[in-house]
Amino acid sequence: MKLREIPVHPHFSKYLPADPSLENRSRPVNNSCFSFVSPVVPSSPKYIHHSKELAKELGLEILPNEVSSYLSGEKSIPSNDFKPFAMCYGGHQFGNWAGQLGDGRAIIIAETDLNDQLYQFQLKGAGPTPYSRRADGFAVLRSSIREYLCSEAMHHLGIPTTRALSLVSTGDKVTRDIMYSGDPKEEPGAIVCRVAPSFIRFGNFEIFAARKEYDELKQLVDYTIFYHFPHLGTPSKETYLSFFREVSQRTRDLMIHWQRVGFVHGVMNTDNLSIHGLTIDYGPYGWLEDYDHNWTPNTTDRDTKRYRYGNQPNIGLWNLVQLANALYTLIENPQPLEEILEEYKETFHRDYKAMMLAKLGLYNQEIPKEFIAFTEEFLNRLKLDYTIFFRLLSEEPITESRFVEIISASSYLNKETVEAMKGYSLDWLGHYLEHLDYETTNWEVRSTKMKQINPKYVLRNYMAQIAIEEAERGNYALIDELYQMLLNPYDDQPHYQKWFAKRPEWAANKIGSSMLSCSS
Ligand code: AMP
Ligand code: MG
Repeated sequence: MKLREIPVHPHFSKYLPADPSLENRSRPVNNSCFSFVSPVVPSSPKYIHHSKELAKELGLEILPNEVSSYLSGEKSIPSNDFKPFAMCYGGHQFGNWAGQLGDGRAIIIAETDLNDQLYQFQLKGAGPTPYSRRADGFAVLRSSIREYLCSEAMHHLGIPTTRALSLVSTGDKVTRDIMYSGDPKEEPGAIVCRVAPSFIRFGNFEIFAARKEYDELKQLVDYTIFYHFPHLGTPSKETYLSFFREVSQRTRDLMIHWQRVGFVHGVMNTDNLSIHGLTIDYGPYGWLEDYDHNWTPNTTDRDTKRYRYGNQPNIGLWNLVQLANALYTLIENPQPLEEILEEYKETFHRDYKAMMLAKLGLYNQEIPKEFIAFTEEFLNRLKLDYTIFFRLLSEEPITESRFVEIISASSYLNKETVEAMKGYSLDWLGHYLEHLDYETTNWEVRSTKMKQINPKYVLRNYMAQIAIEEAERGNYALIDELYQMLLNPYDDQPHYQKWFAKRPEWAANKIGSSMLSCSS
């Protein structure tokens, strides 16, 4: 099927209350789930890349010129009854209620039923909406490349995420002050077309509860359950609780995945948490390199580090508490909600432990949790690269000399310091070998299993940054190379060996390569 042949019909925008005003200026929007708004027509949209894999899953055959016209805001996909719209939501930002936020620069350009599954197609960076507040509604190329590549990389890592179908440049300039230092610059504008069953966030429910718009709250919850969680049953207090339980479980599972691969989202505000448990809104995210629970790539969060790697699971829970508060008015009984939150904590600790042990190739659940804490301390003190260390551990049977090689290949410390800590490292190895002794699986089986959860290739920030710098000079080759490599992150791909390497020294403190602001 061609893009222009997709059966586009309103869905979210048919069954839920619309903003009666069509005025496209920043304003409060009450009693509504969304506002109709059209994308801006870009001056010179150009194709950069698209996900053939996602297109295939959707049953689409897309040509570059179709991407640059239908997925840029230039032309709309034909439909008799669908009109583009932006969603209304609120959110807790950095721990504080921020009121109305909404799709300030995202516009849903299609709702469609493909292969019996609902999808929304959304353009990110297609111009202002009533939710743009004081911002312009556009997106720059650098942040669009980061979102495009990472969405697809996450999917191929097996991690729930919104997808990215395409990336186009708009031909228009967007002004940004990257480090908020009073030095604004013009940058190339771009648009990512994102695809998901829906872009509903925790904040979509919170806004109605905060405004005491309980009818709209109930309508949105009933809609979400009916179309996206139909197995939970018809509306009732019990069903709402099951809904909360499932969102809680999906959020917990997502946190385990993020911790497993060392993904740090960077801005886990409640408006950036998907009700489906998908990774959503790729902003100043990053990948853990030298292991550190306190690391965050987000410069805006550098003082309190609320969204640091080690705190993500707690924040997942904190955000669920906010969602529980919003759903409370429909359930009217705090106790079962509290039980579900308690369940999150307990099952998180259990599953996190199992996940870390599986990364080490240990499947014997009798191992004390102190060994996990020891492993984390060891990774941190030796400044081991999270991806490289676990991958190398998965590749060959462990001996003392192999272990020494792995440490030197993955540590960011200098040789002398590594040498000085040898006794400590061997102490960790001794404990590890003792646990391995109890494993009944043979090495080949264990290695295969370990490689399936310890990726070889992740989208390190410096890699994205090189691709961005080349793209800003008009060369998109590296976007494609990284894209192709990240299709198979768990496979050994010898021709991409140069990307299985520690972060180079020049990237350690470079903006874009190890730290990022929210500016996008
Ligand atoms: P974020 O934390 O980046 O997901 O964004 C928080 C809020 O700011 C959301 O409501 C976004 O839609 C809005 N926002 C971010 N950037 C822009 C922009 N350039 N123009 C309009 N709204 C924006
Ligand atoms: Mg957001």
